[in-house]
Amino acid sequence: MKKNDLVQVRIEDMGVNGEGIGKIDGFALFVKDAVIGDLVEVKIMKPKKNYAYARLERILEPSPHRVEPLCKMHRQCGGCQIQVLDYQEQLRFKENKVKNHLKRIGGFADISVLPIIGMETPYYYRNKAQFPFGTDKAGNPITGFYAGRTHSIIPNTQCYLGVDKNQIILEKILDYMKQNHVKAYDEVSGSGLIRHVLIRVGFVTKEIMVCLVINGRNLPQTDKLVKSLCEIEGMTSISLNVNQEKTNVILGQELIYLWGEDYITDFIGDIKYQISPLSFYQVNPVQTEKLYKSALEYAGLTGKETVWDLYCGIGTISLFLAQRAKEVYGVELVPQAIEDARKNAALNGIDNVKFFVGKAEEVLPEQYETNYVYADVIVVDPPRKGCDETLLNTIVQMQPLRVVYVSCDSATLARDLRYLVDRGYELKRVQPVDMFPATVHVETVCLLSKVK
Ligand code: SAH
Repeated sequence: MKKNDLVQVRIEDMGVNGEGIGKIDGFALFVKDAVIGDLVEVKIMKPKKNYAYARLERILEPSPHRVEPLCKMHRQCGGCQIQVLDYQEQLRFKENKVKNHLKRIGGFADISVLPIIGMETPYYYRNKAQFPFGTDKAGNPITGFYAGRTHSIIPNTQCYLGVDKNQIILEKILDYMKQNHVKAYDEVSGSGLIRHVLIRVGFVTKEIMVCLVINGRNLPQTDKLVKSLCEIEGMTSISLNVNQEKTNVILGQELIYLWGEDYITDFIGDIKYQISPLSFYQVNPVQTEKLYKSALEYAGLTGKETVWDLYCGIGTISLFLAQRAKEVYGVELVPQAIEDARKNAALNGIDNVKFFVGKAEEVLPEQYETNYVYADVIVVDPPRKGCDETLLNTIVQMQPLRVVYVSCDSATLARDLRYLVDRGYELKRVQPVDMFPATVHVETVCLLSKVK
């Protein structure tokens, strides 16, 4: 097959990134935006020896799982890879992804994976939104999203993964910019002022935070913007974030508070959290609660246990566990997150937790070798790259009764589970949870028990 050839193919599978996969005489075609069950006409883009990337030209026969997505921009945006699949099929895709990784990478051929925990309404679930600002050809300020793999902004103020109020906030900011001739930042020249907005909403408290990221330290006619934003019910915190660097990183380090509180509050279960513009906080609070419930159940706490919570962030899981354990030790790399964790512990009157700043793979081995620390249960919730082998090795030496592994990448999860299972642990439960509907991401919580 050569470049620009037009061919017909039935999509029979989907890859881990949501791309449709079809075959013609053993030659594989990878087609973005095509889904399992579609019969499509595609144009060959990059032919290799046994496979090619191809562009979707026409859907000849739509898959029975294809739905009309809420968002008309989904193909251009790239934020949602599988919004065109009906939700049941999205869930099946994610469950299969976990099963396949466990089998292929972990060698767990006949492990049973629990049915994935989905959402009742798989839209409007994000409590956090970040929108870039720019200028259109006519010189008007715009906001929207970056077109897939570029930095050109496609105007759109309505993302269906976020809350309705985002749109009102964005429109108000655009109006303020137009009326007061405030320019959006231009990445190429480094001129202009407004770069991004960060919006956060407390799903339980209904409190709203707006933080404008600006290329400077002053915003003209600030009172007009503040007045307009304050008309929105629930507005709690308005601030500026200073970012004068030529960088892709959205937020700078300095905050200037304009109005209201320095933070919003929200609850996960009974635990209250203060969330400042720079804090990490789980973006899907409804599913987070379900995820933590599984993690808590797997930890099997009776009130007597010593628990280590590694990669603890702002202590969300640690505080959940602390209510039922004798003591909890949290470890996290980012110092500000640990400051938040300590504040949140105090806010909830929880005093049986202690937090360490540092790398889990350094803190735990060091504590084990010098202070002979002990654990009944170890919880890990690493970033996508999974756990460092040094850490896994220390866990094996410490011999906790149970290890609860919370993972956002099933490939590295499978690798790490294999390490533990080869060294005295048994994999008891695998529970996928859908934290990010319409995307290909899947969260999994696993229970491992020490073999007697
Ligand atoms: N358990 C938390 C956060 C999980 S996200 C929650 O549920 O909210 C993963 C966290 O691991 C991030 O906060 C990140 O800063 C931290 N991290 C990344 N590498 C680390 C390492 N080597 N050691 C400790 N923490 C790390």
